[in-house]
Amino acid sequence: MPERTESLGLRTLEDISTLILHSHDLKETLDNIVALVAGRMNSDVCSIYLLDDDNETLRLKSTKGLAHSSVGKITMKITEGLTGLVLEKRDIVSLENAHEHPRYKYFPESGEERYQSFLGIPLVQNHAPIGVIVIQHRETRAYSRTEASTLSTIACQITSIVINARLLDSIRHKDEERARLESKLEKIRLENLSSSDPDSALPEKNPLILTGTPVAPGFAVGKIYLLGRRNPLEAVVVEKVMPPEEEHERVLQALEKTRIQTLYLEKRVAGILSEDDAAIFHTHLLILEDRGFINKILDLVDQGHGAGRAIREVVNYYITAFAQMEDPYMRSRSADMEDIGRRVLESLEGGEVLQEELLESRLLVSSEIFPSDLATLDMEKILGIVTEKGDLNSHAAIIARSLGIPAVMGIEGLVRQIEPDDDLIVDGNIGHVYINPHQRIRSEYERLQRDYSLKMKGFEGLRDLPAITRDGVRVFLRANIGLVSDIRVAVAQGAEGVGLYRTEFPFMARKAFPDRHEQSAIYKKILAGFAGQPLTIRTLDIGGDKGLPYFSHPAEENPFMGWRAIRISLDCCDIFREQLAAILMTAKGSEVRIMFPMISGIEEVRAIRQLIREVMSELELAGIPFKSDIPLGIMVETPAAVLGAEILAKEVDFFSIGTNDLIQYTLAADRNNSRVKQYYTPYHPAVIHSIRKVVLAAKTGNISVSLCGEMAASPANALLLMGLGITDFSMSAPSIPVVKQAIRSVSAEYAERIAGEVLLMESNLEIKEYMHSVELELERIMQ
Ligand code: PEP
Ligand code: MG
Repeated sequence: MPERTESLGLRTLEDISTLILHSHDLKETLDNIVALVAGRMNSDVCSIYLLDDDNETLRLKSTKGLAHSSVGKITMKITEGLTGLVLEKRDIVSLENAHEHPRYKYFPESGEERYQSFLGIPLVQNHAPIGVIVIQHRETRAYSRTEASTLSTIACQITSIVINARLLDSIRHKDEERARLESKLEKIRLENLSSSDPDSALPEKNPLILTGTPVAPGFAVGKIYLLGRRNPLEAVVVEKVMPPEEEHERVLQALEKTRIQTLYLEKRVAGILSEDDAAIFHTHLLILEDRGFINKILDLVDQGHGAGRAIREVVNYYITAFAQMEDPYMRSRSADMEDIGRRVLESLEGGEVLQEELLESRLLVSSEIFPSDLATLDMEKILGIVTEKGDLNSHAAIIARSLGIPAVMGIEGLVRQIEPDDDLIVDGNIGHVYINPHQRIRSEYERLQRDYSLKMKGFEGLRDLPAITRDGVRVFLRANIGLVSDIRVAVAQGAEGVGLYRTEFPFMARKAFPDRHEQSAIYKKILAGFAGQPLTIRTLDIGGDKGLPYFSHPAEENPFMGWRAIRISLDCCDIFREQLAAILMTAKGSEVRIMFPMISGIEEVRAIRQLIREVMSELELAGIPFKSDIPLGIMVETPAAVLGAEILAKEVDFFSIGTNDLIQYTLAADRNNSRVKQYYTPYHPAVIHSIRKVVLAAKTGNISVSLCGEMAASPANALLLMGLGITDFSMSAPSIPVVKQAIRSVSAEYAERIAGEVLLMESNLEIKEYMHSVELELERIMQ
């Protein structure tokens, strides 16, 4: 009788809430549980026994039916009594006549002789026993399977509640301890203050050094700005509502994604703190799986709400209900609900964007920074960036390099360790972050900062010189840009035009899709910034780690493999056409090329060509001038494009190799996941041979090939790539001078020798070591 089990089994969130609703501590929680269960199961007794710290003794902690005076007093080893047997066997013990069982043990203080039948269920959390729940009846009766399974369901649910209640109890104790300790410390501080001179009495903040991945070079010293995340629960979102079945599916997928995320969080917290600390996520899981919670959302969907609104409403309803409770324990359930709600909505939306204002120059600190964060902030005021998540190849890191903002990413537990008024030094060269550094360290960094500026000054003379090898091979060094404000940096570094204009960034900085005229105005600004120089405009590359605040993107398990880049453009033709029109209009009379991201086959190229033809006819009909002979190129950034390069070369005018993605897709290593960063390397033979293959295919097809991934931003890599046949690079502008200096210091033959050696190598490590020796040699040559 599954319905009966369900109706009895405290399946709903309301039931769980009821249990904790009137509880102030573990004892009250247990008392509420036994009272509720005894009522639901119609039993004369319901008792909970929990294991003592010795893990051997079971102690009666709460009962409905037995003598209250026996609580805390009745104890037994797990080798004793029927209750001990339940835990010993870790299985249900169901007895019609308990007295007849050899393990029956009589506890006179309980008044137990009156109860004939016994049903005991172990309470087990993550394979570890924590106690037993028992129900008893006066009459002799057999417990049905339904009753046993009902009590098991209840046992499962209350295990987490018990663990949470225990955890909160222990936190409460720790808080009390901490308060005592702090008052002691305060006393000592006051004593010291009155006995020492006023200057030395200034409070010293605790210095701390954290280490992460250096992703953008340079140093910065300053005050921090803790970047808060946008709260999707408070967002007012106008969403397109699909038919209810589709909205149901969206809700269920978001819940499932959050559930998986929660399991991960639980594991993570257990790893970092303890299993007990992680148990809080069990409550989250219970809520995420709770039929009452889910049904409430689905009911709203059936009433015509979109998934987002339905989730928001139900979650906010619970948050408010919990938050209004007087009990601090219950109020903290409200924070749990908020945490869950945010994550479910983020899963549903598949990303998050925030709008914050930076009032003065600060070091940005956050758990994670998305490109949209940078795009919406005043970048001039960002002195440095420090994050918990992110890596060398995340888009935020690329932007930081482009902007010349020192950045360190991948510092686990960063935000937890930082206070809003902390001082920070960010060393983007070696990945150190100093929190409240000693004066000595600060002075050392100030000296380094002066040296660094001098070195940069040394490059200044290079700005107007061509990148040309000693034996006369001309190389072009262009800039990767995303925002109009990049122009200044790129021009200052001597970029010869733009090899990659990531158009998604101006889209990110807006509240709605810009129309063709608005887009054209932005593209014209870029063109004007690089007067007379080539500009390669890449069409929208959203998805992956880049979202738009106003474009709802479905939550995806695998966004980099998902609905991204050209796939979105081809599916959302209106947006694509608008952008194509804007580029074609802007390009008239200029050296503008158009490039498409994440191409994997000729069907895409043909579909693009067809659309371009249509847009051109439309412009022609409207009498709007446009560039009809605009070169069309593709990013080669998928293994499919590499393997199909000969075929693709017949369809397009140029290739631009995007190593950032090509590496991640070739080596199956997420560019943003620091856990797999050892797999994400440009030195894998598969990557090197892929590049070589694309260069040869371009040559055979008689089209040009350039490279716009970050790989080229290191001087040694740039020489390796030159040796592989590439002489047109696009990179973050601050890397241009040092790469140019390297090119001007060697011959093309030297670069060919490097590539020749590397092409013969079979392992990533071998190539890595060899390239390190090239770096050292280059440093000597360039001095
Ligand atoms: C690349 O993938 O190498 C590239 C340049 O594009 P993005 O970094 O914008 O994905
Ligand atoms: Mg790419």
